[in-house]
Amino acid sequence: MSEHSPFKTAASFIFLIVLVLGLSTISNRIWGGKPEAAAKSKELVLEAGMTIARFGQVNELPNPVLKEIFGLKDKADLQKELKAYGSTEQIASMVKGKLALAAEHANKNWIKIPVKFGLWFVFLISVFLLMGKRKVTPGLRNGTLLASILLFGVVLGADPSPMGTVKDAIHLYATSHVIFPPRMIALAVFLAIVFLANKYICAWGCQAGTLQDLLFRINRTDKAKAVIGRQIKLPFALTNTVRCVFLLLFTIIAFSSGFDIIDPIDPFKIFKPAYLGLIGGIFVGVLLLAGLFIYRPWCHLFCPFGLAGWLMEKTSRVRISVDYETCIACGKCAAACPSTVMGAILKRDKKTIPDCFACYTCREVCPTDSIRFSTRKRTLPPAGHFEKGTNQ
Ligand code: SF4
Ligand code: SF4
Repeated sequence: MSEHSPFKTAASFIFLIVLVLGLSTISNRIWGGKPEAAAKSKELVLEAGMTIARFGQVNELPNPVLKEIFGLKDKADLQKELKAYGSTEQIASMVKGKLALAAEHANKNWIKIPVKFGLWFVFLISVFLLMGKRKVTPGLRNGTLLASILLFGVVLGADPSPMGTVKDAIHLYATSHVIFPPRMIALAVFLAIVFLANKYICAWGCQAGTLQDLLFRINRTDKAKAVIGRQIKLPFALTNTVRCVFLLLFTIIAFSSGFDIIDPIDPFKIFKPAYLGLIGGIFVGVLLLAGLFIYRPWCHLFCPFGLAGWLMEKTSRVRISVDYETCIACGKCAAACPSTVMGAILKRDKKTIPDCFACYTCREVCPTDSIRFSTRKRTLPPAGHFEKGTNQ
């Protein structure tokens, strides 16, 4: 059997999915009970004339929770009437917000989260040093992607994730009008990574991103050809429009009805198989299958962090650039790039550069070593440089 055969690709695809589902199920059991998604808040029973004690009784809120919500100083304060705190609408909104924050806090695994962030830093810096020094062969890349999937997805679970920081922040604000500060810190950290080194967190650290990346690569020969079917590079104008419309739809629905349209189809739930329902299972299955032919379909078409990261990427300090002094305009980098980004970088007239996932594929194929992932300024190619014979 040849090194790349349709049978081997199909078997690797099935093996990887089964491995992730099976090991994630075991990992979830070991980490135990916390679903890490806050429970839905129930409707409050609230009448203006109620005392705080009565309000707590009918809504099954224990005294420490009431103390926290209303800032009570002693037990006697429990006899205060609710109307001292504003209208019923104001009180309902305040209580809902504080309960939502308490639920967020209670549902997080505060051991796992700092461990995961610590490991993310160590891992990303190691990958940066490793990839910077060595020729990034497909084997090295695939092994690194697999290590990331197993560590950050299977062992450490679906949460937190770069996507969750954007999606859950919007949804929580839409439903409870509050902001959960730890999530904002996490989002700032992820965006800071993008500011420093392009989409490095998406490229090498995101659970769903690395899984899609590896699946795409198992259907690829070293010459960047598809083993099964054909690889499709969707135009960025199309993918980004879909991504913007999807985020807009998500936001409108979250604010108008409180429904989270991403939750039932969330691909990160592949690392939380017990929460992946029938619709989610079908959607994620189709998405991952499509990922054999389209590079990172979730990232390009749906992911809210993908969009935020793409905007932030415009300010990245370290990024892919081409040295046109040594570039011989063969176009191999653009042909090998799994998306349309290298093609856009090479075109003088392209103002919109799509998401670059810092995958190093372009650098790997360049015959003159003209591509760098560094702080070198990205310049335009000289006029006429690519007029003949590019493969973009
Ligand atoms: S764009 Fe892709 S890699 Fe980045 S957070 Fe979203 S799913 Fe993960
Ligand atoms: S091949 Fe190069 S330009 Fe294309 S996504 Fe990877 S690093 Fe970015």
